[in-house]
Formats: sequence, C-alpha cells, structure tokens
Amino acid sequence: MLSRAQHAGVLQMVVTGSTLASSARAIALAGAHPVTLFATAGVHPHHAGEVSATSLSELEELARRPEVVAVGECGLDYFRNFAPHATQQQAFHRQLELAQRVGKPVFLHQRDAHADFTAILREHAPRWRGVAHCFTGGGAELASYLELGLAIGITGWICDERRGAHLAALMPQIPAGRLLLETDGPYLLPRDLKPRPVSRRNEPAYLPHIAAVVARARGESLASLAGTSTAAARALFQLPQP
Ligand SMILES: [Zn+2]
Repeated sequence: MLSRAQHAGVLQMVVTGSTLASSARAIALAGAHPVTLFATAGVHPHHAGEVSATSLSELEELARRPEVVAVGECGLDYFRNFAPHATQQQAFHRQLELAQRVGKPVFLHQRDAHADFTAILREHAPRWRGVAHCFTGGGAELASYLELGLAIGITGWICDERRGAHLAALMPQIPAGRLLLETDGPYLLPRDLKPRPVSRRNEPAYLPHIAAVVARARGESLASLAGTSTAAARALFQLPQP
C-alpha cells in the first residue's frame, strides 16, 4: 500500500487513531516508517464511553509521543449515536484540554452535531489549530470552521454524485493554506474511480484522484492544489520535508 502511494506521488501520510488501541497501532506504524507516516492519538465519539481518568492519562502519554502530530480524532457524532450525547461531549471537552496541554493541533470529527460542536470548541478557545476532517457540510458550517481558524479536510465524498455535489461550489471559498486532502481510508472509496477497483478498500494511492476533482472545482491546476495542500498539511502537522 505504501509503495502504491509513493508511485502515486503521495509521500507523507497521517494515520488516524480512533481509540486508545488504534492510536497505539498508528504510533507503531509511524515509528516503523519515519518521515513517511505520522499518527494522531485520540478517541472517536463512537468510542467516547472508553474515556475515563485512567484512559485519559494513557492517551496523554500517547499524545506526547514525537510520532503524534495531532490529538483526535475527537468530536461529536449525533448521526450514529453510538455513545450518549453527554458522554460524547465530556470526552470531547477532555480531549480539547489535552490538546492544549500537549500543544498539538486537533483532528476533529463532527456529524449532525454542528451547534454543540462549535459551542464546545468556542468554550475552550476562540481559534484553534486543527482540521475539521472529512468536511461534508454546507456554506454556513464552512464559514464557522474557517472563523474558528480550522483547516478543512476534503475527502472523496466530493466524488459522490449522490451526496457530495454541493461541495464543489464551496471549494473556491477555502483559502489555499487551509485546504487539506484526505482519503479517510479504508472508508469512502471515491465513487467515480475508473477503472473501478476490485477491492472496496480506499487507500492513499487514490488521493491524486480526489485532488483532481477538488482542483477542477477550484478552477486551478492539479499541480497548484497539490503544492498548496501539501504545504498546508506540513505546516499544520509540522511535518519534516521528505
Ligand atoms: Zn471521522
């Protein structure tokens, strides 16, 4: 998978942790592939129930590791509601505090919870260093994230003609230094990939396909978007030059 990514020109990747265990695995991967892979450490709202005093101190230890470039993914998900809202909110508060303690950016997940999500962020700070990952919202959501100082993570959702078409019109509104590209692999295989891969598993080698769709929507060249989104990711996550 890494050599396919390299062939496609994807040289550095952030591996997302969504539980304590998967954050530890992401760190192990990043440790095995320095300068190429980096990790996040956090607890996804689906798993908010696992956040306790004990697990938070373990998470902080992970978050302080040099391989870790952001705290998350953390946030709120009222779409699936795998954890009660109050539990999700507490887990989110604790991880925002943790990010401020360790001085790393936040990697944020939000679905169907925009009002509570932005209110909690503002409670802790007026502006954040971080990314609203897998942005799928509308113009008002985009404006509020930009106002919070966040970068915007765009995935292959934009390639989905059934539910991602509205994103194309919003692409020119994202300042170049604030637009990040993501696969959200293994999920969200771009629907318009040709030829259609046999495996449904999304992976970094498909990132240039997403980049081309975003570049077209912004009316800029693929090379220009690749350059600015790479620079934006390196600046936010403080990645070394490969
Ligand atoms: Zn997510």
